[in-house]
Amino acid sequence: MCGILGIVLSENAQDSTSIAPMAVDCLTALQHRGTESSGLVGTNGCFNDHFEIVKGHGLVRDVYSNESIGALKDSIAVVGHNRYSTAGMKNAINCVQPFVLYTAAGLIAVAHNGELVNAHRSRDKILRSGVGLSTDTDSELIGQIISKTIAQNIKCRGENYEISGDISKELAATMSAIELSYSLVVMTYDRIYAIRDPYGNRPLSIGQIFSTKKQKNGNVNSPLSFIVASETCAFPAGTKFHSEVEAGELIEISKTGVKSIWQMVPKPKAFCIFEYVYFARADSMFEGQQVHGVREECGKILAIESPIEVDIVSTVPDSATAATLGYSLQSKVPYEPVLYRNVYVGRSFIQPNNEMRQTAVTRKFGVLKDNVVDKRIVLIDDSIVRGNTMRIIVHLRIASPPLRYPCYMGINIASKNELIASNLDENEIAESLGADSVKYLTLEGLEKAVQKNAKLPTESIGHCVACLNGKYPISIDF
Ligand code: SF4
Repeated sequence: MCGILGIVLSENAQDSTSIAPMAVDCLTALQHRGTESSGLVGTNGCFNDHFEIVKGHGLVRDVYSNESIGALKDSIAVVGHNRYSTAGMKNAINCVQPFVLYTAAGLIAVAHNGELVNAHRSRDKILRSGVGLSTDTDSELIGQIISKTIAQNIKCRGENYEISGDISKELAATMSAIELSYSLVVMTYDRIYAIRDPYGNRPLSIGQIFSTKKQKNGNVNSPLSFIVASETCAFPAGTKFHSEVEAGELIEISKTGVKSIWQMVPKPKAFCIFEYVYFARADSMFEGQQVHGVREECGKILAIESPIEVDIVSTVPDSATAATLGYSLQSKVPYEPVLYRNVYVGRSFIQPNNEMRQTAVTRKFGVLKDNVVDKRIVLIDDSIVRGNTMRIIVHLRIASPPLRYPCYMGINIASKNELIASNLDENEIAESLGADSVKYLTLEGLEKAVQKNAKLPTESIGHCVACLNGKYPISIDF
């Protein structure tokens, strides 16, 4: 998944304002999107100065300290990244984003969410052009494509090319050269660009942050900064939502405001439907609706599609909580907790390998025995990927359709063999997990839930469901 972030100070902000502590809070709010490493890069707005970089492996709270972010105190803009790796050497420090590189137009920093489908073609091309790569990550590759395009454009950029932070033409050319999937935040010395691939596969939203000052006549809100982030849950309190970056859109964010610079010819929209099912935080907004509401709707439809006579409805905490509420409301069966989740164990799905995922699962849940004994229970979960979580528990309704195909757009499901639903039907899964029955939400049910309250014109709505039906947004080189 990965979480990406950019903050630019508004020209109206007070001189003493430091955006670094706010950026750390925002990355903490995006922690669920990646726990392997985190990085923040800041610019002080002077062309000739270096970028300040704070990076490390582990959780946001382990990477940053008051001391280390002190280096970012004069920043007028920062970009940040929480990493969940799908491609690339997992432990190498040079894989920790944002990537910083010198280009013919000065320093740039790149933070990327997604995975380039068919990246080997672009990799071959850049290597054959004489540009070396120090990692096998797509994100470095994107940085080098931008850098090469800047070098090619030097002659047309005019005399001041070396002091202009405007690289919009080169970014537009880069967008045309790479297909899917990317949401990007790119920083030059004086501005930030927010970019989304033409299918809109991974999310990216923009907001404006205000500070509240007490004055004699009451409180006055004044613009403090602009923010771009993978999810709106990263927006600090008091942020006014501006817009989602459209599929194929290039947006410039500077001290004067937010400007849409370029829009690619739209492709069929393929926003990852699993952002709604599992990945995103329940309080985030996509397509004009809150994720929590969609999950609740999934639970209601699941109750209609797969009813069962039981005493209580319960949940696998936390991402299935909203679907469970929906199932309980629709079926009128009371909700009772049966599992206690240890909040100090991270999300098992985003652990980098299966061994770590299984260990995380065994540490994750305790059973509330008094609520279980002599009860007929329907247990709701959001999805079954590999069956790791489920092997520990029983009796299931799943608030998403069976996950049968791998993802090539940034989610670490390496092969069909790993996916329990790709090899077994519902009865076989029930037997394998020791459940009395297993039923999934249908794909029609999920699409209905996602579309019910979306506040977008119908033609702007479209979702990637490739891991559910095997139909990918573009053809994949296997
Ligand atoms: S294949 Fe599945 S997980 Fe991957 S982008 Fe599409 S919907 Fe999301």
